[in-house]
Amino acid sequence: MRVVVGHLYPDYLNIYADRGNIAVLSRRAALRGHELDVRAVGIGDRLDADAYDLLYVGGGQDREQALVAPDLVEKGGAIHQASASGVAMLAVCGGYQLLGRGYRGRDGSFMSGVGLFPHETVAGTTRMIGDVLLECELEPGSRRSLAGFENHAGRTLLDPEATPFGRVVFGFGNDGESGFEGCRVGRAIGTYLHGPLLPRNAWLADWLLTQAMAHSSGGEPPVLEPLPDELEAEAFRVAAERARRRGGRR
Ligand code: GLN
Repeated sequence: MRVVVGHLYPDYLNIYADRGNIAVLSRRAALRGHELDVRAVGIGDRLDADAYDLLYVGGGQDREQALVAPDLVEKGGAIHQASASGVAMLAVCGGYQLLGRGYRGRDGSFMSGVGLFPHETVAGTTRMIGDVLLECELEPGSRRSLAGFENHAGRTLLDPEATPFGRVVFGFGNDGESGFEGCRVGRAIGTYLHGPLLPRNAWLADWLLTQAMAHSSGGEPPVLEPLPDELEAEAFRVAAERARRRGGRR
């Protein structure tokens, strides 16, 4: 099967090598005999809502975010349409903030976002930095641990009815207080965790891949052949241990 990925603003939003997430998706697809067709979508490019099975937005500093934000808002209609039709999405940190209603910077200026995720972000005076351990339940009854790294000044406040991506076991998460991390709307996941995220959380890479494949085929998410994942499990273990040493939520 061919899975088409739209990588938004790869030249601007690629902090901590977030594009490594795409490499993981490509490799895990190829190992199962599927092909990932990755296309860059830049400022001024048309975003066709029907053209992709997965959209990816990486992280960036406030400066890069400000450069892409007006263009992202113009693509907002297509992003909403794509999400409603079951396109999978992964948005990291700066991209996660901009898929919400918007981001208020330290200088008080407001960057409007796309409004796909029901949240708003306000920059705080301190940064929230460190390894994070989450507990996620993307499929009812199937709890999975997820390890990552966060570095953000923004505090993201979910609307009361919003579904978080995960619950914080160790780390700050969305705002350092709620115990929530990220946001989920259907097949779209937004999260602060980068580093990159997918190499040490193979289950999430496969979840995204199967959601994208379901969009491509128009059917149910397929069951993928398992991979050995020994290095991935070791990377997860090391990151989870670092998060654990950091201690409880703070
Ligand atoms: N504006 C973001 C912040 O809260 C950028 C974070 C990021 O993508 N690393 O700091």
